[in-house]
Order: sequence, then structure tokens, then C-alpha cells
Amino acid sequence: MKYSKQREIILKTLKAADTHLTAEDLYHKVREIIPRISLGTVYRNLNLLVEVGEIRTLQSSDSPSILYDGRGDEHCHLICTSCGKITDIDLALFTPFDLLVYDKRGFLVDDHDLVLKGTCAECLEK
Ligand SMILES: [Zn+2]
Ligand SMILES: [Zn+2]
Repeated sequence: MKYSKQREIILKTLKAADTHLTAEDLYHKVREIIPRISLGTVYRNLNLLVEVGEIRTLQSSDSPSILYDGRGDEHCHLICTSCGKITDIDLALFTPFDLLVYDKRGFLVDDHDLVLKGTCAECLEK
């Protein structure tokens, strides 16, 4: 199988999962499609996809593993410290904050790499 084809399958699998996965999680999913693929190949392709901006990475607080995110556009994350759930939040929410930062500090924000920690709606209800 061609490398480009493998990369395409890895990318599609990550996007289809619609969540944030470690390379190992993704490796198990991709193996259902390409049984002979190695974990090293999955890592190599993931790193390449990050380099070209197709996907993003994030670091969860309670696991040392890097998580891969099939969403390549800039966005931020909410991590529930109770159940570990990770939720995407859109940048539009930060517009008032960015304006405030510019107003108070004269600093123009052009990238957001934020992880906000707290308790998710479901955990709050318990
Ligand atoms: Zn929770
Ligand atoms: Zn995300």
C-alpha cells in the first residue's frame, strides 16, 4: 500500500472518530482497515499531518500522552477534571477577551492554544 494512501486512511479515521485520540487509540482503529500497519507508521503520519496543519495536538492533564485532534482549524478545549471529557470550543467565544486584551495591554492576539479546566455540565448535575 502506498504511503499517501495510508496517510489518507489515518486522517479519515481520526476525523471520523470525532474525538481526541492518542496515537495508540488511533492505531487500533486503523488496524481494522490496514491490519499490517505499524504503530511507528501511524506516529510518522500523524506528525506529518500536524506539520502540514491538517490536524492539531493537545496535551491532556491526566495522561502523559499527546492527543491528536482531527479538527485542523484553530479552536480551544475544555477538559473536565472529573470525568476527563474534552470538549471543543469555537474561537468566536474569545473575541470579547481578545478585544479586552488589546484594549488593556495593546497586545494583538492571533493564536489561541488554550485548555480550560473545570467541571462539565453532566458532572455538575451529579
Ligand atoms: Zn465531566
Ligand atoms: Zn479539539
